[in-house]
Amino acid sequence: MIKLHDKYFKPFISAQEIDDAVTQMANDVANDLGDEIPMFIGILNGSFMLVSDFVKKYPKPCEVTFIKLASYEGVKSTEDIQRLIGLTQDLTGRTVVILEDIIDTGNTLHEVHRIFKNEGVKQLLIATLFYKPEAYKKDFKLHYVGKEIPNKFIVGYGLDYDGLGRDLPEVYQLKTTQHMTNIVLFGPPGAGKGTQANFLKEKYNLVHISTGDVFRYNMKNDTALGTLAKSYIDKGQLVPDQVTIDMLEAEVEKNADAKGFIFDGFPRTNAQAEALDQLMQSKDSQINAMIALEVEDEVLVERLLERGKSSGRADDANESVIRDRITEYYKKTAILKDFYAEQSKYYGVDGIGSIDAITERLCNAIDKL
Ligand code: AMP
Repeated sequence: MIKLHDKYFKPFISAQEIDDAVTQMANDVANDLGDEIPMFIGILNGSFMLVSDFVKKYPKPCEVTFIKLASYEGVKSTEDIQRLIGLTQDLTGRTVVILEDIIDTGNTLHEVHRIFKNEGVKQLLIATLFYKPEAYKKDFKLHYVGKEIPNKFIVGYGLDYDGLGRDLPEVYQLKTTQHMTNIVLFGPPGAGKGTQANFLKEKYNLVHISTGDVFRYNMKNDTALGTLAKSYIDKGQLVPDQVTIDMLEAEVEKNADAKGFIFDGFPRTNAQAEALDQLMQSKDSQINAMIALEVEDEVLVERLLERGKSSGRADDANESVIRDRITEYYKKTAILKDFYAEQSKYYGVDGIGSIDAITERLCNAIDKL
């Protein structure tokens, strides 16, 4: 994901796909023109990258130049009158191939045809890297098309959003869904995830989803999910992945307008982490960070036994269940540190100290994202 000015864009067409399309176009034009030396004309500004790559791939001698269409300054009219800059050569009798980065409505193409009407060229061929069939409103023939794309705003590979993005070697698409900040709050049972999530959700206006809380709510209300979950939770074991993943997805869907989420107690396995990535992708979003509260085991046991005196949680009341939960954490969950560290998204925070001090450490980490 990238940000240009105020908008977010997601990867859409890779540099490799672009390269393949340009190669194909260059070969197709060369096959059709044989030994005739074409005059390639790029339409500035957007086509500069395409033209550079195209002529490098063109297997035969060719000439290349650029033109630019500019609106007359100060002239306001419904038919935007354009003037041409840069066409100085005599093109009489030549085969001209217009190289365009993108054709959408076809307005620029209309001007190009108007301008070339009196140039006496032998033939005027149109080659465009990208073409939006849903937006095209003209009848001019497009002789070579690199790639058809849907009618969405794109940037990169010469195309800009208000001046930015032309330099990107791949193409990005405007993200129309709201930008979210999504944080996985991580750490062993008793690390303080729930306590801290309550502060963070207020401060950053995020929705807090604790899978443990959702299970406990279901247990309290004797739902089928609650009964199933209870058989695992009471033993300090993890609830099966698919059950947990389905539940988490339902919770996310309930909050379609969220500005982001704090995931607390999820993911706890590799399968859950992968499912979460897919879910975020389906929302044009991603996990921004895993922030882990680091606390030693003996402090955890002490904290959980203390909490068990008032929380009413059966799994907090018994030291052996507490130790089983911590063991489950190291066996199945701690590996997720690597999952996020590999993506440079892991941030460890010292989880020992006063609640306020720990909140401050977490905020420092989040503010830097
Ligand atoms: P917690 O409140 O996060 O400590 O969770 C309490 C219990 O709920 C855990 O010990 C598990 O049995 C179950 N649980 C919570 N989240 C998950 C999850 N992501 N995957 C599997 N089981 C979970």
